[in-house]
Amino acid sequence: MTRLETRLVHAGRDGLREACVHAPPIDLSTTYPVADLEAGTASFDALVAGEASAANPIYARLHNPTVARTESALARLEGSEACVAFGSGMAALTAVLMARRAHGGHVLVVRPLYGTSDHLLASGLCGLEAEFVTADRIAASIRPDTALVIVETPANPTVDLVDIRAAVAAAGSVPVLVDSTFATPVLQNPLALGARYVLHSATKFLGGHGDVIAGVVCCEDALAQPLRTVRAATGGLLHPLAAYLLHRGLPTLSLRVERAQANAQTLAERLAAHPRVARVFHPGLGTVRNAHLVGSQMAGPGSLMAFELAGGYDAAAAVMRAVRLMTPAVSLGSVDTLIQHPSGLTHRVVGAADKAANGITDGLLRLSVGIEHVDDLWSDLAQALDAAATVPAAQAA
Ligand SMILES: *Cc1c(COP(=O)(O)O)cnc(C)c1O
Repeated sequence: MTRLETRLVHAGRDGLREACVHAPPIDLSTTYPVADLEAGTASFDALVAGEASAANPIYARLHNPTVARTESALARLEGSEACVAFGSGMAALTAVLMARRAHGGHVLVVRPLYGTSDHLLASGLCGLEAEFVTADRIAASIRPDTALVIVETPANPTVDLVDIRAAVAAAGSVPVLVDSTFATPVLQNPLALGARYVLHSATKFLGGHGDVIAGVVCCEDALAQPLRTVRAATGGLLHPLAAYLLHRGLPTLSLRVERAQANAQTLAERLAAHPRVARVFHPGLGTVRNAHLVGSQMAGPGSLMAFELAGGYDAAAAVMRAVRLMTPAVSLGSVDTLIQHPSGLTHRVVGAADKAANGITDGLLRLSVGIEHVDDLWSDLAQALDAAATVPAAQAA
């Protein structure tokens, strides 16, 4: 197999040369002519049963060739038989949960994880009982009706790492889903470590330019079929224009990830030495859980970090107000640097006790480092930290 950098550029380009086009075509059809009723019925049955394709796509909720092309690219990047794309990362997770219900009503979830994933699981909206555990409690918590184990690594927002091999061993015969959004296929391949599902919010690094909402699940075909059936029934679709944009961003993924990662290491070191910063959480500083997995499980520390202001909530709010180059916004993995306050924004839906237990404090900011010049980023951050220093001490306490 060719190397990742080459696959990023060429994956999902099958048949283009033969069709004498260079850019992948975009198919916006919602319906497809069915002249031969018998063949149409056979295609319909195959797609509803979760087959990856059929002679006739029939209807765009069942199949879309542009989306399928993007899926084939992502499957090659994760080294999976299949990939199923959805309208968002949350739609992707919902589909996995619905598909797993046939295997039992209990899901084990390692915290911390993305705030809305946490909320979806804790709320029981998908009809499953979610039990939140630390990674060392997985083996002891497996029940006969456990249908899935969910881990997120690196985890949101504190960038803690979970040992995927150990989680897989602890789960035994229960499939493990890894939310690998922060790592991308450039830094981590959970399927090679025994995970059965890899989930990405493709809204983040894979799309990479802040203009696509998408989610993907990479897995073996036998597990992908029920996901396609759920997608066809519930309609959590990725639009073909969004699928095109997602595919469009992939060739530069390794360049983006590597540049952002180098920038992040420098910023993390400078932040750690800054008097107004109490703590920096970044795998490249060794200050997160299981940082030793950088270099083995993960090819590098990535470009996400969290840092705690000595001045607490008011100082954190002041930094968000004062940044000029960085965008004060949720989301991550974009070419531009984004800074946000997990407790007040992305993890707002997580209960106070669970926030406290997972280090999501009022003075914590999360930084998703982009590909700008690192010295410009540092100038902006340093002036914002200085601005935060003018917050009165009484407020900051
Ligand atoms: C953003 C995110 C999600 C949810 O994805 P959407 O595309 O916003 O629905 C899930 N997991 C992680 C780790 C995320 O960062």
